[in-house]
Amino acid sequence: MLQDQQLQAAELERTFIAIKPDGVQRGLIAEIISRFEKKGFKLVAIKIMIPSKDFAQKHYHDLKERPFFNGLCDFLSSGPVVAMVWEGEGVIKYGRKLIGATDPQKSEPGTIRGDLAVGVGRNIIHGSDGSETAKDEIALWFTPRELVSYTSNAEKWIYGIN
Ligand code: UDP
Ligand code: MG
Repeated sequence: MLQDQQLQAAELERTFIAIKPDGVQRGLIAEIISRFEKKGFKLVAIKIMIPSKDFAQKHYHDLKERPFFNGLCDFLSSGPVVAMVWEGEGVIKYGRKLIGATDPQKSEPGTIRGDLAVGVGRNIIHGSDGSETAKDEIALWFTPRELVSYTSNAEKWIYGIN
């Protein structure tokens, strides 16, 4: 059925979202989760961990030539990170919209960084920037068994499928 196909397509897109050590220490875990949850996205994996420096370097490998790379990796590995996978139609692109611009000085009010952060080096949250990075980051942070596939009762209300 077309409706089933639509629902499956909506379920298939996944993105990696992490609350960085500053977001955790500032008590913003629930606030950040709630923005994704209220939008209608579905949480399919979550854990808290302190990544090693080596792990942080793997996560940010694309940025290894940038001057802030070392400090960024030191920071990511300096304390607990809440790692998550969120699922839903358009979640990669819209997740980035919910997060806001990299520099909180340029993030719009209403976005997570716009409302809750001030400095680019302490912008509280990470989100995958495309489908390839989402796939790679999910595989780096989670094993397949940690990803929980399920149907949410709200989906038929969120996607208008009966
Ligand atoms: N960053 C920084 N200084 C900069 C640019 C980026 O400290 O001039 C940090 C910032 O915390 C950012 C992270 O590096 O979130 C990764 O950079 P990217 O360009 O991938 O931004 P994002 O995808 O997180 O918006
Ligand atoms: Mg990025």
